[in-house]
Amino acid sequence: MTAEIICVGTELLLGEVVNTNGAYLAQQCAQAGLSCYYQSVVGDNAQRLEQAIRTALSRSDIVILSGGLGPTEDDLTKETAARVMGRELVTDEASRRWIEEYFAKKGVQPTDNNWKQALVPEGALVLPNPNGTAPGVILEGEKARIVLLPGPPHELIPMFEESVLPYLRKCGPGVIYSQTVKACDIGESRVESLLMDLIDAQSDPTIATYAKPGEVHIRVTAKAESEKAARKKIKPVVKELKSRLGAHIYTTEDSVTLERAVVDLLLANRLTVTCAESCTGGLLAARLIDVPGVSEVFKSGLVTYSNKAKRRLLGVKKSTLEKYGAVSEQTAREMARGAAFLSKSDVAVGITGLAGPDGGTPEKPVGLVYISCSVKGEITVKEYRFTGSRSTVRGAAVSAALVLMRRCILEYYSKVTFG
Ligand code: ATP
Ligand code: MG
Repeated sequence: MTAEIICVGTELLLGEVVNTNGAYLAQQCAQAGLSCYYQSVVGDNAQRLEQAIRTALSRSDIVILSGGLGPTEDDLTKETAARVMGRELVTDEASRRWIEEYFAKKGVQPTDNNWKQALVPEGALVLPNPNGTAPGVILEGEKARIVLLPGPPHELIPMFEESVLPYLRKCGPGVIYSQTVKACDIGESRVESLLMDLIDAQSDPTIATYAKPGEVHIRVTAKAESEKAARKKIKPVVKELKSRLGAHIYTTEDSVTLERAVVDLLLANRLTVTCAESCTGGLLAARLIDVPGVSEVFKSGLVTYSNKAKRRLLGVKKSTLEKYGAVSEQTAREMARGAAFLSKSDVAVGITGLAGPDGGTPEKPVGLVYISCSVKGEITVKEYRFTGSRSTVRGAAVSAALVLMRRCILEYYSKVTFG
């Protein structure tokens, strides 16, 4: 089966909004085993949109559109798609009630044009929108199908995952199912070399690796007549990955993030945690606090940016700062030690580095970061040299801190060795 993506919006054509929906939908189609040969962007113009939809329908089995489902005058995707498919627009009662409730909850009076969003082409499958008012729509024609999704990514993504993917799985010949094995503390090229023979020999299931900051994801995909049968095919491959990558694998579940895995490890060992951050300015604390249930273990996060703060709030010695500098192994070590001692936490993490773009020297270039982790007083410090923009360096430092926390906790408790 082939899929084609059309993203609607003049703001996309002007480059004012980056077309992240296009990239997301393309990735999802690829993962679902749909071949996607065309992708286009059209402005909010009925004629050109109609042309684009007709062209897409003539050459693809499924046409997925994003944007233009809203209440305003320039939102015309639904009307145009209905016209092309020869359908009238009718009110969908469930959507009308949802819009009513949505506004009632907000305590806002809906305007007349809001009811427009309850209109759907007759005979359409209506996809609920838990994060907004515009429902999505699937229209099945004789030869092809059209899927209409709202433009805002926080509405489109959940709708795609909750409603469109299950639909696609049902209508395809057999199913394509994939599972992601997530590894950290190891580079992508090392993963590839460990899996080389599997990757070379693959046909079904297929194995693909994706590098992410601080981690490598390995996606195993199988085709079968049912999801159950596909899972069965995937199982031995996942087992083999586990045996080859060992302790580097932190989860085999798609929904588990690195921060979730770290929090789970803290919870399982009943460990409290405190972060002392300089260049990352609280990003590590924020990523940990993103995880529901973290309140059981998270004690405090300090942003000790200045030398004075490092001394006063963490007890880093003046002499250490003078002799080695704020960005040094010694300072990082004292940050973790001080944070652990002062907060009485089992685990404490210190991050100090040069995020740039200025301030680098030949000995201490931009991107140099020291991360320390104390587990019950046993302190590990590592040096990192990241590249990229200020925000890339800061993001990479946070990922590295999570990876280091995981390693230190695992090593402390089970003396796990990382190959
Ligand atoms: P709304 O009800 O908010 O009007 P809509 O379905 O009509 O939703 P649009 O009006 O096309 O969608 O877009 C709304 C906003 O969603 C855009 O201003 C933009 O911020 C975001 N958006 C739209 N299309 C895309 C896209 N392809 N990629 C990323 N963001 C997008
Ligand atoms: Mg709109």
